[in-house]
Amino acid sequence: MGSVFNPSVQAERDGAPIETPPRAPSPVHQFGTMAVHAGAHVDPTTGAVIAPISLSTTFAQTAVGKPLGIYEYTRSANPNRDNFEEAVAALEHARYALAFSSGSATTATILQSLAAGSHVVSVSDVYGGTHRYFTKVAAAHGVHVTFSPSIEIDVADLIRPNDTKLIWIESPSNPTLGLVDIRNVATIAHQHGIMVVVDNTFLSPYIQNPLDHGADIVIHSVTKYINGHSDVLMGVAAFNSDELKERLTFLQNAIGAVPSAFDCWLAHRGLKTLHLRAREASKNATVIATALEASPHVKAVNYPGIKSHPHREIALKQHRDGMGGGMLSFRINGGQEAAERFCQATQVFVLAESLGGVESLVEVPSSMTHAGIPREEREAAGVFDDLVRMSCGIEDSVDLLKDVLQALEKAAKPTKSSGFSNGHTS
Ligand SMILES: *Cc1c(COP(=O)(O)O)cnc(C)c1O
Repeated sequence: MGSVFNPSVQAERDGAPIETPPRAPSPVHQFGTMAVHAGAHVDPTTGAVIAPISLSTTFAQTAVGKPLGIYEYTRSANPNRDNFEEAVAALEHARYALAFSSGSATTATILQSLAAGSHVVSVSDVYGGTHRYFTKVAAAHGVHVTFSPSIEIDVADLIRPNDTKLIWIESPSNPTLGLVDIRNVATIAHQHGIMVVVDNTFLSPYIQNPLDHGADIVIHSVTKYINGHSDVLMGVAAFNSDELKERLTFLQNAIGAVPSAFDCWLAHRGLKTLHLRAREASKNATVIATALEASPHVKAVNYPGIKSHPHREIALKQHRDGMGGGMLSFRINGGQEAAERFCQATQVFVLAESLGGVESLVEVPSSMTHAGIPREEREAAGVFDDLVRMSCGIEDSVDLLKDVLQALEKAAKPTKSSGFSNGHTS
């Protein structure tokens, strides 16, 4: 059945034998040291400490079929992509990483590695573009996806013995920040020889390493925290299995959805400060979530870094030091109009989609990132019209806090200039 597991290595978990591929060796250095040094090689010809950007698309050969070095053509491999992939593999405790032209291209390439007739079980509130690919593109290739709002409870029932090949998890979920216990789901999946993919975009490898909790593949939209400066579109997948390495490397080259050398260089530069940015964003989000919880203008706050979160226990088990990350969402009193007024009243938080950059962003998912999902389905997942999503950046927390508090006051007391004649709720 094309299992990716290496039968030569046996791991014992919960008393049941599970086949797992050889894992990456335990890291010798701490995260920050690896972020700065992994994949950062001194140039052997010039001594340059920072790798040059290797823009050449082709590489000279000394004889027919005998390239001078290890490179031939840039789609197949190039020095900047190799460096970046090496760095991500180190940070995700993986043996291998492969970079793609976007997070979406990463998802598409993994789904394309499945044979026609394959079945996938996914958490319901996946990233909008992932949902679109699963429902509108994968089906055309004969790959069918079942969505579950409570995957930890019903994964065993949803598995189709011969057809299910993948379980797809996003933890935290977007935009309601629900958590999934990766180890629980992976244990059941592995009993059936099924692989588990975790989209780790929202937390970054600094806060969560899904492979350590039993996942087989971890993916990222590098566009968000890993690059961290809102100026590169890129994706990456990291894993331990040799068989996956062979299959996905083949597809990376054959499909060709690869990032440019320049983008790899920029993303590698961004990654070197990931630990500093992730700590700061998480600290800022904690300050804001705490203030929102105390505000009379706020109905509910979703943030896994505070005690009130229903899955706080999972955060303590799965996240570095129980950190909550830089993303949070909250329901504001006054309906959709108050949510819109809030986003238009902030002066430091920029009203925009996306997340994970150094700058703080704010948006209304029901009318922006999640507008494509029918209302009923959206509200069943907790995405109401009065929900505001925030990506906390690395500005000073005093300034972010002041900005949020003044915007809450303005959102609560509509004025003519806000564009709404009254504050009726919906
Ligand atoms: C943005 C995002 C993606 C898609 O990544 P792109 O780089 O925009 O293609 C996938 N998953 C999550 C959780 C995201 O936030």
